[in-house]
Amino acid sequence: MVPLNSKQRRALEALRQAQEPLSAYALLDLLRPHGFSAPTQVYRALEVLIKAGAVHRLETLNAYIACRLEHRHECTVFAICNHCGRTDELLDQDLSGCLDRLAQRRHFSCESITIEVRGTCATCSDVVTNATTPAECNSVGSSALYAHQPVKGASE
Ligand SMILES: [Zn+2]
Ligand SMILES: [Zn+2]
Repeated sequence: MVPLNSKQRRALEALRQAQEPLSAYALLDLLRPHGFSAPTQVYRALEVLIKAGAVHRLETLNAYIACRLEHRHECTVFAICNHCGRTDELLDQDLSGCLDRLAQRRHFSCESITIEVRGTCATCSDVVTNATTPAECNSVGSSALYAHQPVKGASE
């Protein structure tokens, strides 16, 4: 990787520590204590990190995520959970080769391929499967639900 300056290293560190993809503004908030004060500083750092392959931009989320895998020129697939936002980076050589051949047929030279797959992660699909059925929910009195809601809200 190209040598990074201190701001670029800070931005990469913050993205690596984040448990989810971050928007440029969320990243700016994290980096304010480290001398960042304007969005342009964040975008400049991100541009270098993306070119270096250390960070990926997720178009559908308008967010950024640190690369968790060592890879070059392969097709990168992101599985993004619609429920909890968990985002997993996956590589698939077969898929990569398939898309390369497709591009070559049109004499299109591929620089990078990023596929974003939206759905439900394993943890969330367990929750969905084990969730109480609507019939069970209805058996709980609405007054009981209302009684619990303010307490939950206050504790958050
Ligand atoms: Zn990656
Ligand atoms: Zn999930």
